[in-house]
Parts: sequence; structure tokens; C-alpha cells
Amino acid sequence: MDQKGYVISGLSFLLIIPAIYMIAVFADMVHTGSQPQALMVQSDVVFSTSRDIERNLPILAKNTFQKTAWNVIRTGNPLQDSRMTVKDSLQRKIDDLTKKYHKEGINVTCKILSVDSGRDPFKVQVNSTISIVKGNVIHRENLSHDISIIDPNYPVPDPIPFIKCKNFGGITITGNRIIYGSSLVNFLKSRNVTNAEVYLNATSPLIIRECPYDPYETHGRSHILTNLKNCIDNGYFHESSDGACFLCRLEGRAECRHLGIEAFIIPALSTNDTLDYAPCSIDHVIFYDGYRGFGLIYSSNSTGLYKLYLDNGHRTKYGLPVV
Ligand SMILES: [Zn+2]
Ligand SMILES: [Zn+2]
Repeated sequence: MDQKGYVISGLSFLLIIPAIYMIAVFADMVHTGSQPQALMVQSDVVFSTSRDIERNLPILAKNTFQKTAWNVIRTGNPLQDSRMTVKDSLQRKIDDLTKKYHKEGINVTCKILSVDSGRDPFKVQVNSTISIVKGNVIHRENLSHDISIIDPNYPVPDPIPFIKCKNFGGITITGNRIIYGSSLVNFLKSRNVTNAEVYLNATSPLIIRECPYDPYETHGRSHILTNLKNCIDNGYFHESSDGACFLCRLEGRAECRHLGIEAFIIPALSTNDTLDYAPCSIDHVIFYDGYRGFGLIYSSNSTGLYKLYLDNGHRTKYGLPVV
């Protein structure tokens, strides 16, 4: 009995050692605890600040694309250096955003390093660097965003028709359509292009939106060209190696070395089904090369024919019959 009691008290003593050790550790934590806790609060603030800037930067950029394009449309004047203009304008918006943090004692700088065409023609690449200082916590981060130009919340208009037709008569906007009146005919005639008249009252899409008929050959897949007609009625844009990218469009260029976009320019309803050729109905061809396309009736009604003029290169791209 005595021996058993001795064993129990021995075990109790062994259990007491870790308990004493834990109390010592706890005492040490209480003693020095205030410093790491403050550091934790500071790094939480830094973390949420950097997330806030990362979240806001694409929104401010989309807003900048939109405003820059509308400014060009209003004046009809191309930008000298669209990348620089967009970069400076975005920097001003970012500076306004970071100012509010200075009031809270957080030193934030976000520098836009570059704005350029990306691998996806419906996106613009924005590179930036963020630096946040709060107390002893310093956070630096390099960011690269591929920012959409086709977000329906920030619709971006196509500036090129307004620049090209500025000196050739008025362009009007109706809903999502640009209506050329006689300006496109005047523009093409100034370049001595034959059969320019088919583009009297022609239209093209105003807002840049990506065509969902992908692969593009599906435009011509249905027998009565329903997909092509739907694409045209909706006013979609397509990826194009010849057509200019968004940033080059702001500079008044219809073609560029980047992967770009193209849209159909639609002649007004026609009553002439014998006209065989006219300038090709692709925007970068109309505004740059001016080469001819062959007539393709894609729809009709009692008042006339819906016609496009397309070369074999573009007919192949969109799965339409070649001639
Ligand atoms: Zn399409
Ligand atoms: Zn370009």
C-alpha cells in the first residue's frame, strides 16, 4: 500500500514539471506580448490595404479606357502616345485612391510602370508596383494585370471611325451603332476606291464586344447564314492579326503589329443584286488597305438585300463560300 502511494506521488511529480514549464512560457508571453500583437495589427492593415488597391486598380483602369476612348471620339483627334496618356490618367486616379490612406497614417504608393497591348486583344496589360509602409511593416509588391476592355459594366467604344471620318462629314450614334451617313463614301472616294457608294449610310458597332461565334468558321456554318446575321446584328468584334489593337486605335491606326481586333462595316440595305464587288466590308480594310471584296447576300426581306463584300481571306476565316 505504501509502495503504491509512493509510485503515484512520483508520477504526479513528473506531471508537475511540464505544468511549471507551461506557466513559465505563459508568463513570458504576457510580459512581451504587446509588441508582436501590434505588429500583427499593422500587418493586417497592410494586407487589407494591398488587397484594396489590387481590387480597385482594374476598375480604375477600365474607367480610364472608357473615358480616354470617349475623349478621342468627342474631338476626333488621335492620341500621340495612347500608352502614355492612359498610364498618366490611371496614375492620377490611383494617386487619388492612395491619398485616403495617408490620412490613416499608412504610407501607400502605387506606381503604374507600363500600359501596353497584351496577348489577348480584348485585354490591356497594366504593370504596377505597390509599396505600403505602416509602422515597422513594409510591404512591396509588383503587379501585372491583364485588364478587360469588354466588361459590360465599363463599355468601351471603338474610336477609329470617328478619327478616320472626322473631315469627311458627320457620324451619328444610335444605340450601339455608328451610322456613317455620307462620310465613309467621301473618305473612300478621297482614296479613289471604286464602288464606294455602297457605304452610303453604312453602319458599324460602337461598343467593343467579343464575338461568341468561336471558332470563327461557325459564322458560315448554317445554311442561311443565321450565325453571320446574328453576329452582325449584335455588332461583335473578332480577333485579328491585321486589325489594330485598342491602344493603337486610339492613335488613329487601323492596322498595327500587335494582335488586334476587327469588325464588319455593314452597307445599308441594297436593292442591287448585280453589284459584284466593292471595298471589303472589314473595318481595317476600309480604313487602311481599301482592297476589294466580292458581294455576299447574307439575308433579305421584302424591301431589299443585306450584303457584305468580302475577299477570300476573310471568307475563309469566317467559314463563308469562297469565289
Ligand atoms: Zn462574329
Ligand atoms: Zn497595336
